Amino acid sequence: MTTTISKAANTAQITYNVSFPEAQAHYADIEMHITGLQQNTLELKMPVWTPGSYLVREFAKNIESFSAEAGSKAIASPKINKNTWQIVTKGISAITVKYRVYAFEISVRTSFIDASHAFLSTTGIFIYPTNMLHSPATIHIKPYKNWDKVSTSLEMVNNDPFTRLSPNFDILFDSPIEVGNQDVFGFDASGVHYEICMYGGGNYDKEKLKADIHKVVDQEAAVFGENPNKHYVFIVHNRQRNGGGLEHLSSTVLGASRDSYANDKGYQSFLGLVAHEHFHLWNVKRLRPIVLGPFDYDTENYTTNLWIAEGFTEYYQGIIVRRTQLFPVQNYFDVLESEFNILENLPGKDLQTVAESSFDAWIKAYRPNENSNNTTISYYNKGAIIGMMIDLEIINSSKGKFSLDDVMKYMYTQYYKTLKRGYTDAEFKAGFEKFAGKKLDDFYAKYINGLTPIDYNKYLGYAGYKVVDELADKNDAALGITTVTTAAKKIIVTGVQRGTSAYIDGINVNDEITAIDGTPATDAAALINGKNPGDKIQVTVTRDGQAIILPVTLLKSNRVKYNIVTVDSPTEQQLAVRKKWLSL
Ligand SMILES: [Zn+2]
Repeated sequence: MTTTISKAANTAQITYNVSFPEAQAHYADIEMHITGLQQNTLELKMPVWTPGSYLVREFAKNIESFSAEAGSKAIASPKINKNTWQIVTKGISAITVKYRVYAFEISVRTSFIDASHAFLSTTGIFIYPTNMLHSPATIHIKPYKNWDKVSTSLEMVNNDPFTRLSPNFDILFDSPIEVGNQDVFGFDASGVHYEICMYGGGNYDKEKLKADIHKVVDQEAAVFGENPNKHYVFIVHNRQRNGGGLEHLSSTVLGASRDSYANDKGYQSFLGLVAHEHFHLWNVKRLRPIVLGPFDYDTENYTTNLWIAEGFTEYYQGIIVRRTQLFPVQNYFDVLESEFNILENLPGKDLQTVAESSFDAWIKAYRPNENSNNTTISYYNKGAIIGMMIDLEIINSSKGKFSLDDVMKYMYTQYYKTLKRGYTDAEFKAGFEKFAGKKLDDFYAKYINGLTPIDYNKYLGYAGYKVVDELADKNDAALGITTVTTAAKKIIVTGVQRGTSAYIDGINVNDEITAIDGTPATDAAALINGKNPGDKIQVTVTRDGQAIILPVTLLKSNRVKYNIVTVDSPTEQQLAVRKKWLSL
């Protein structure tokens, strides 16, 4: 996108006043003041997407009561497209724009306001003047009723927590703001002050959390050799059931289940999320595909490299938690096995490459439908497996001298720090090859741009491991459907897997399964109990209000369930690779 700085950008002063007079009804009221204008027309835009979440979300849909005035006199501010307002400013040097934003979507990438707090995902809150993305902006926040805290990585002005300065709009749009009564605590790690801001309560142990997150952030800084922040903020939204996260330059927003901290599995998964989003402060926020920054906030930004930006981050979330030594190696294998089994049980693995999955994130990954598992894969999932394969390839071929860490550090230093730009696909490939000591054309043709089945045992074999399919000797029949059971105990089909009995014999998504061989169906898990591959059954479904009997020939289940096990008598080289890979 253009980086031209207009004369106006150097003279205009932008201030926002954000207040919440009707927080209980989910509104933020925004007043934007611009002074020093020297142009005939001004265009104000609302971003259509939020970086890190690759979907056009049309944030302008939440704006209402938009008005503009100059010197207390109303001036016209017509919309000229879905997210742009145009104001004639000839002879006008200062204007005020007012609008309200409705915020009632709970997620890490959308704003949410109620009487208990305001979470401002800034791309959906602040409009920006075209050609002034480089301008600084001051934000004054007036909290609702008894709210007493603002948590954000934006710096305070004059030590006033309610006044924050953003050096430019790229930083503003990468700095979410939490306002309310959150529980804030922190620690210092390698010159960085970390704040943890907990909304919603929870059974977390502050001291344990500080100590363990400290270990995670130290391990991650060690990969890249430096931590570019001075101040970093974890905004955590604790709810009855919540998850997910979104990375930002100097902060992150995490969703957590408020009662999940006290059990081992929930806690490990929370630390994994912390590790994932924090790792992004390097991988994707700074070391990034060339199109992902400066961002075009007006449209899709396409890249084939999300398998590096997201997939490697997913790989590292597991390996970093392993490096903290807080959990046994088997816990890490559980994470890896789950990655393998997700991919291997997806029919989409035979149709969509990981590069295509990345490019089409905007229309496929973020817009799944009932057929997605048949046609798509996740660049998180396959990207994490590729991260493991390349890591093991490098450790093995360099005889333990290098690992994927060296590639990440080299790419960060070379492209973010030295060249101050993103990387191309070919440049990252060259980075891998530099440390693997060999060309990876064949690897790319097979696994990045191709659909070759993954050779788990080749790569795990470098570390003296292999996978064993626990279902290999089974002869179970399968229908090949997923279902939900409604409150009225109806069994409704939600997915039909390509190539299975249900797919071939015509069971459809949304069918209600009412009987098998004339016996009423009451338990989704027991639909074909006692049946074998080759058996012919009659499945009665209700489709669009009509009963249909479908003759179905049951096929053998094609599911796999891989476990990682050690090979017999691993060699010294295998043990050395294992030690380096798993930080033993
Ligand atoms: Zn991520």
